[in-house]
Amino acid sequence: MRLRNVTGSREMIADSKYVVHNPQEHKGKWSEVFENDRPIHIEIGMGKGRFMMDLAAANPQINYIGIEKYSTVLLRAIQKMEENELPNLVFIRMDAEEICDVFAKDEISKIYLNFSDPWPKDRHAKRRLPSKEFLARYNEILIPDGRLEFKTDNTDLFDFALEELEPAGWKAEAVTRDLHHDEVLSQGNIMTEYEEKFSSMGNPIYKYIIYR
Ligand code: SAM
Repeated sequence: MRLRNVTGSREMIADSKYVVHNPQEHKGKWSEVFENDRPIHIEIGMGKGRFMMDLAAANPQINYIGIEKYSTVLLRAIQKMEENELPNLVFIRMDAEEICDVFAKDEISKIYLNFSDPWPKDRHAKRRLPSKEFLARYNEILIPDGRLEFKTDNTDLFDFALEELEPAGWKAEAVTRDLHHDEVLSQGNIMTEYEEKFSSMGNPIYKYIIYR
């Protein structure tokens, strides 16, 4: 998702108190940012932030970090936080490739990937957020019994993501190819912006929950 260039978005982000600047400086010390020891859950490729905001409002006992690569997109999330401030949610603008520079071993309790960019060309497979290369990075930062949850409406990306599990040493705990009609997994489901858009077009939503 790349929105039209918004003039001054980088400056607005630099001034925002909802964004953690120089996130590498907090590696191993994220509990200090939240001023408590509660578990930390992250969404990588958060987009405009609706999913993170709904989760943070519903679960004050969890700390959330929304990660987004593009300033113009992150700006939308910041604007939402200005209307409805949440003490247990912060944002980082960064490329997820650098995630191991930002979080220490076992610092994260849960990872969400929602409607990740498909990168359809084979030569770009390493850039897909559920690729084995990214799973190796998540392995570094996630607690031993931590879970990763991934949702998409993209069949090729979901098939690819399932194939990547075994070589990367991960296992599926739950898999559905129709989340909204799955009696168990649909319970308490919080929709993302893309999920709302694609499910309203009739696309089934795929989801897995994985562990290692
Ligand atoms: N998760 C949101 C949703 O479900 O509504 C947004 C989905 S959008 C298709 C994917 C988002 O992931 C985009 O905003 C994109 O900029 C971000 N993204 C893609 N690759 C990324 C990366 N390597 N690091 C951080 N964000 C990334």
